[in-house]
Amino acid sequence: MSAIFSGHDGSADASPARAAVFIDKDGTLVEDVPDNVDPARVRFTPHALEALRMLAERGYPLIVVTNQPGLAYGRFTRAELTRLQLALAEMMQREGVLLTDFYACTHAPGPAGPVPACLCRVPAPGLLRQAARTHRIDLQRSWMVGDLLDDIEAGRRAGCRTVLLDVGSETVWRMSPLRTPHYRVHDLLEAARTIIASDEAATRLDEGVVPEAQLPQRGEPPGLMRHAASALQALARGPRAARAQPGDFGRLS
Ligand SMILES: [Zn+2]
Repeated sequence: MSAIFSGHDGSADASPARAAVFIDKDGTLVEDVPDNVDPARVRFTPHALEALRMLAERGYPLIVVTNQPGLAYGRFTRAELTRLQLALAEMMQREGVLLTDFYACTHAPGPAGPVPACLCRVPAPGLLRQAARTHRIDLQRSWMVGDLLDDIEAGRRAGCRTVLLDVGSETVWRMSPLRTPHYRVHDLLEAARTIIASDEAATRLDEGVVPEAQLPQRGEPPGLMRHAASALQALARGPRAARAQPGDFGRLS
């Protein structure tokens, strides 16, 4: 496991733990080019930068979590992976998006069985937990966004809420409660809007403005998640709509 941007261990920091958004890399943040470490071949997924800018502007640390077993298989070197990480952060920075950190499991998957080869390969939650310790992140208030059910499982195992980018990457659909996303969306922009709307609705609930019955229930089957997004959209136009940014919710459904 590597984390290249961590300058310090933030555990001594007295500030309250923050909510973060964890983002899978291949197929979620960038188009999936297997084992690619060439910055010239990096292409962001549709609306990725716009989505991340929205989240960054609202104060969410953005943290990439990714399996990169190509290192263990000798398909690229650590130096090449580090160069790719730095280039990715630079590309995002040029668009006004700060990448808070980047965590990669560089181990090979073990043989199928109950004992994993390492504790950091997604769907294990090791990378998220490590990030939480380093950056004082409240996992219960955080989000994991990915295009595979393994990403969802890693997020749920860490205690996060989860958003599945339903873009055709997942082909096996081995479902279980731990692999059931809280929301399903079609691109990162819809993911960002869903996260923002859900957290704003929860804040209003905390303030006693919205009856709980209007909020989507945890554990709803995925097919209902888009209805939940619509409910949140309606909610956003509700009593405290003036707080919402114009256009934030208009294209949600
Ligand atoms: Zn690992």
